[in-house]
Amino acid sequence: MQLLSAKLCVLASSSSGNCSLLAIKSPTKTITVLIDAGLSPRKTMALMERAGHDHTTIDHVLLTHLDVDHWNNGWLAKLPESTVVHLHRRHTGRASRSGLLYLKTHPFESGFELVPGVHVSPLLVAHDDLGTAAFRIEFQGFGTSLGYATDTGRPTPKLCDHLAQVDVLAIESNYCPELQKASTRPAFLKDRIMGGRGHLSNQESAAAVARINPCRCVVLLHLSKECNKPEIATNLHQHVGRDVIVASADSPSNWVDLSISSQNSLAPRAQASADSKISAEIHIPVPRQTTIWGQ
Ligand SMILES: [Zn+2]
Repeated sequence: MQLLSAKLCVLASSSSGNCSLLAIKSPTKTITVLIDAGLSPRKTMALMERAGHDHTTIDHVLLTHLDVDHWNNGWLAKLPESTVVHLHRRHTGRASRSGLLYLKTHPFESGFELVPGVHVSPLLVAHDDLGTAAFRIEFQGFGTSLGYATDTGRPTPKLCDHLAQVDVLAIESNYCPELQKASTRPAFLKDRIMGGRGHLSNQESAAAVARINPCRCVVLLHLSKECNKPEIATNLHQHVGRDVIVASADSPSNWVDLSISSQNSLAPRAQASADSKISAEIHIPVPRQTTIWGQ
């Protein structure tokens, strides 16, 4: 299928709800894809309208995992029969218990064609008991790619290699360690978040970004309202010179065009990548050394 354009808008991203909108345009229709659906249908529709997306039929839902901030059960009664919900096979037991399998679902374990010309390569990464799917999405007609990784536990070499040099990288930057430690949260919750099966700190996220080396743009997802600040998260990316967008908890981001090839801007950054250590540990020019964890 010939594609005319593809673009991404993060409708909202926080522990209160995560949902990104991928709009893929062909000569005959606009295909609406939600990456995660952790907001109520009503709020999602309102944010889609605010983003200027006037196609209210959702064709595909691509789920990273099924935590309540990524899948809102209100969708069970709202999605049309034709909508395909793509979820990792590892999550089907939980999906069955929540009634999600009554919808048209596609369990995946390996790469698949979302629509002709748009290929999704999933990678299961550590997060709580069942893990989370991170995605590399290739737009074959444009030669472009989108990396999407949230609730990723630890930045592993496998994850970084999977998403290496995507054009646009959306990745979580959940918390500032100092704010997390100083917060009044109970110790078990801090341990869950920071223990390697929870979320990425700003420093872990920045280290992953440095290793992945996206060509054009970084979108920071899932910032903690209580334990992070946009200026702290973005500060770790200022030196690189690529666009950085911070997703908001309650308003749509700017659209990111995925139809634009980054080929022309690849060369200097490929050099930067070659200079970085390909080992279990990398160094980035930020105030503290950050570790890419081994598997
Ligand atoms: Zn989450």
